[in-house]
This record gives sequence, structure tokens and C-alpha cells, in this order.
Amino acid sequence: MAEEFTPKKTERSFRFIRKHGWIIAFIIGLGGQFIPEIGLLVPLVILTLLGMSLFKGMYWCGNFCFHGSFFDQLVMKISPHKKVPDIFKSKTFVGLILILFILNFSRQLYFAITGDTGTVLARVGSVMANTYLVVILIGLFLGIVINSRTWCHFCPMGTMEKFMYKIGKKTELTKNYDQKVTITEPEDCIECGLCSQVCPFELRPYPTLKENALADSSNNQYDEERCIRCRVCIENCPADVLTLATEDEAKKLN
Ligand code: SF4
Ligand code: SF4
Repeated sequence: MAEEFTPKKTERSFRFIRKHGWIIAFIIGLGGQFIPEIGLLVPLVILTLLGMSLFKGMYWCGNFCFHGSFFDQLVMKISPHKKVPDIFKSKTFVGLILILFILNFSRQLYFAITGDTGTVLARVGSVMANTYLVVILIGLFLGIVINSRTWCHFCPMGTMEKFMYKIGKKTELTKNYDQKVTITEPEDCIECGLCSQVCPFELRPYPTLKENALADSSNNQYDEERCIRCRVCIENCPADVLTLATEDEAKKLN
């Protein structure tokens, strides 16, 4: 059984967009209530994150996602930061949310396209902006009662990213771009478990990474499709033995 760790709050934003992306989430979600056409930015966001996931897995979620920025920068401050219940991580639940999302989104889009009030762009934009706002509100609620990144465990966009990542891996599109958490010197790991305590996705780079790399030095990467490549474990490792690296870069570290 995987070792249990208590989630720990820590700095999670190391880049400008991760620090301030939440402003864009508010502009789309709230601004779209007044100027619905703003919601038309959402398809662009979806296409970008799906395209990126073909090459880099869930990198978008850990480095660009505007909702993720809101959860990490603002919601985490008021979150009790409890462990996310396993039900929210189960494949059945995650799949169910994706199906419900697609059905509801398609139904709303159909009515927006066939409706007769205002322009079609405003109606479609409004559907997109409302969806964005709903995620802000549900994510905020879950963040206040459980953990700031609870929503992310079953976010339909994340589920689609994982699907695209599988395609990327099969077609080797990931080969030169997919940067995974990599351990540089496993023997220097002091086994503090901090990397696992601070992970927003409650993943366990420790002890997996250390054990694998000690058994086989070429096995020094954390091969986990749910890893959002956010660098939180890396930045918090007191032994400074973690980094993000592509497969080729990791080989050179052996
Ligand atoms: S394993 Fe590290 S990089 Fe991956 S999600 Fe967790 S903290 Fe972020
Ligand atoms: S934070 Fe660094 S030193 Fe601590 S267990 Fe993880 S890899 Fe090892």
C-alpha cells in the first residue's frame, strides 16, 4: 500500500502566468457575464491545452491553467487543505463527470446556435463564459471545504489531456518535449517525503523515484500521467535532487 502523507501548503507559483493567470479566469468567467463574446476565448484555451498535452502531458495544468492559478494563488490561502477523498480520483467518477460535461455542454451549445436572442456569437460566448464561471464556483466551494485543487482531480479538461497524452506517447510525439520529474542523485535523497507532501495532485514521487533509480539508474523518471509538471516537488526538495527533464536529458544524468 502507498505510504500516506499529510498534504502540506507551500509556494506553488514560480512563473508569472501561474501567479497572475487567475485574473484571466475572472475576466472570462465574470467579464463574460457582461460581454458574452469574451467567452469565445475559451475554445482557444481548450485547443491550446489539448494540443500541448499531445507533447507534454498535463503541463498546461501545472504551468498555465487560469483556474489552477486561482486555486493555487487565492483558494489555497483559505482552504483547510485536507486530503482529497479517493472517490474524486476514481476512474468511474472521473469518467462520469466527463460524460456529464460533454452532454451538458453539447446541449447548451445546440440551444445557443439555434436560439434567436442576440447574435449567435454572443449566445455561444455566453455558454463558454458560464461554464468558466461554474468551474470557478465549484472549485472555490470544494477548495473551501476540502482542498484547493480538488476540482482538478476530475476536471474534464484534465481527463481529455490524459487521453491526448496517451496518443502522444503512442505516436512518440512526447519523446523530445515531455519533461518528467527526474531524480538526479537518488543516494542523496534524505527521505524526508516533502515532495509527496506538497504535490498538488497528492502524487508520490517519494519513495517511487528513489527506489526505482537505486534499483536501476536508467529508471530515474517519474512516469505518472497525472503529474502536472508544476515543479512544486522540485522547488521544495531540500536535497535539490529533483529536476524536470526529457527522456534524453534524463539519460545524460545517469
Ligand atoms: S509530482 Fe511534482 S511536478 Fe508532478 S504534480 Fe506533483 S508536485 Fe507537481
Ligand atoms: S523532497 Fe527530495 S530529499 Fe525529500 S524525499 Fe523527496 S526527493 Fe527525497
